[in-house]
Amino acid sequence: MIDACLTIDGRPVGTDETFAVLNPATGAEAGRAPRAGQAELDAAVAAAKRAFPAWSAQDDATLRAACEAVTAKLQEHAEELARVLTLEQGKPLNGLGSRWEMGGAAAWAGYTASLSLPVQVLQDTNEGRVELHRKPLGVVGSITPWNFPVMIAIWHVLPALRTGNTVVLKPSPYTPLATLRMVEILNEVLPAGVLNAVSGDDAGFNIGAAMSSHPDIAKIVFTGSIGTGRHVMRSAAETLKRLTLELGGNDAGIVLPDADPAKIAEGLFWGAFINNGQTCAAMKRLYVHDSIHDAVCEALVAYARAIPVGDGLDEASALGPVQNRMQFDKVARLVADAAGRGKVLCGGAPGDGLFFPPTIVAGLTNGDPLVDEEQFGPALPVIRYSDVEEAIAAANDSPNGLGGSVWSSDIDAAKAVAKRMECGSVWINKHGAIQPNAPFGGIKSSGLGVEFAEDGLKEYTSAQVIFS
Ligand code: NAD
Repeated sequence: MIDACLTIDGRPVGTDETFAVLNPATGAEAGRAPRAGQAELDAAVAAAKRAFPAWSAQDDATLRAACEAVTAKLQEHAEELARVLTLEQGKPLNGLGSRWEMGGAAAWAGYTASLSLPVQVLQDTNEGRVELHRKPLGVVGSITPWNFPVMIAIWHVLPALRTGNTVVLKPSPYTPLATLRMVEILNEVLPAGVLNAVSGDDAGFNIGAAMSSHPDIAKIVFTGSIGTGRHVMRSAAETLKRLTLELGGNDAGIVLPDADPAKIAEGLFWGAFINNGQTCAAMKRLYVHDSIHDAVCEALVAYARAIPVGDGLDEASALGPVQNRMQFDKVARLVADAAGRGKVLCGGAPGDGLFFPPTIVAGLTNGDPLVDEEQFGPALPVIRYSDVEEAIAAANDSPNGLGGSVWSSDIDAAKAVAKRMECGSVWINKHGAIQPNAPFGGIKSSGLGVEFAEDGLKEYTSAQVIFS
C-alpha cells in the first residue's frame, strides 16, 4: 500500500480525506492519494507564486543545472517509480512499459535541460538595435492524464522550469501515486515552491477546473481528452491564460501496395497497441491496399497472437490490463458493435477483470464507430481500399489531426502521401515515434500549440522586444 502526499512549498502535505487508487490488474487498492480542496490548491499556487521571482531571476546556466539535477534524480529513482507506475497504471514493467516510460522521462528531461532560448538580435544597424527576449510567464498549471502519467508530467514540468516558470502539477485521479512520489523526490534538488503537486478525485471539488480559472495561474498545459480540453479553454477565457492543449487523436495508418507485409507487421502492431492502445498518438485505424490486405492482416494477427498479456508485475508480460473500467467498457462496446459489422480476426472477447486481448477487426469502413471514434484501447480496425486517393480522403475525414503514418518500400512515394495527411506528425514505416528534438502537437480538434524542442520551450514564455 502506497500512501502518497501532496507537495506544497517544498514540504509533504497530507489531507484529512483521501481516495483509493486501484491496481487494474487485480482490482485491489494499490494506494491512497490526498483529496485536496480549494485551500490546498490556493496554498500550492501561492507557494509557486512566491517562488517565481527568485527562480525566474536565475541565469541560464543555473536553470540548466537544476534541470540536469532533476534528470539525475529521475534516473536514480527509475526502478522505484516504475514499480509504482505498474501498480497503478497496469502497464508491464518490461518492454514498452514502466521502465521504458521512466527511460523516456529521463531522456526528455535531459534533452530539455540542454535547450535554451538565448536573446535573438533582430537588427543591429545605424538605425538601432532590436533584441527579442523570452520571458517566463509565472505559475504554470499542469494537468495530466492516466496513460503515461510520469512521462507526460515531465513533458510539462521540464520546459516550464527550464524557462524560469514555477509549477503546480495535478495528476489524473486514476494514476496519481507515481507522479506525487516523483514530485517529492524532485523537491530534493529544487528550491521550495518551484514544483508543487496537488491531487483529487474529481468528485465534488474538481481541481483541474479550479486551476483552469485560477487568477494566479498564468498558463495551463493540459494533456487529456478533447471534451475536457474544451472545458479548460472555456474556464481559462476569463483570465486569458496561455494554453497548450494536447488532446485526443484518431491516427490513421495507410499501407501502400508496395509494402512488405512480413517486414511491417511488428511496427504496425506496436504502432497501434503500445500501452494497450491507450496512447494519444497510437495508430487507431489502418487503411490497407486491396492487393496486400489479406497478407497484412495475416502477418499482424500472427504477431498479435504471440503477445503475452498479463499482470504488469510479471516480467513476462508485454501488455497489461486496460487501465480503468470506463475505458474497458468503451473498448468492449466498440468491439461488440464492430463484430456485428466486420470480421474479428483475433481477440474480440473481453478477458477477466480489465484484461482485453489485442483485437483486430477487418471489413470495416469509415462510418463504423470503431473507425470513427477514438477507442483508446487494444482494438484496431483494418479498412480495405483500392485507390490511394480514396485512402487519403478517408484518413483525413476526421475531426482529429494528431498523427498519421504511411507504410511503403518507396520513401519518396510515402512522403508524397505524408504531405497530404491532415495531422501534426507523420511517420514513415513506423507510428508514434515521438522525439524530444521534434515539435509534437495536434491540428484540428487534437490540440493547440506544440510540445518538445525549441518550439515547445517557447510556449512557456512571452516575447519581449527591446528597441535601443
Ligand atoms: P481526461 O480529459 O478525462 O482527464 C485528463 C485530466 O483532466 C485529468 O487529470 C482529470 O482529472 C482532469 N480534469 C477532469 N475534469 C477537468 C476539468 N473540468 N477541467 C480541467 N481538468 C479536468 O483524459 P484522460 O481520460 O485522463 O486521458 C485520455 C485522453 O487523453 C485521450 O483522449 C487521449 O487521446 C488524450 N491524450 C492526449 C495526448 C496528447 O499528447 N495529445 C497524450 C495522452 C493522452
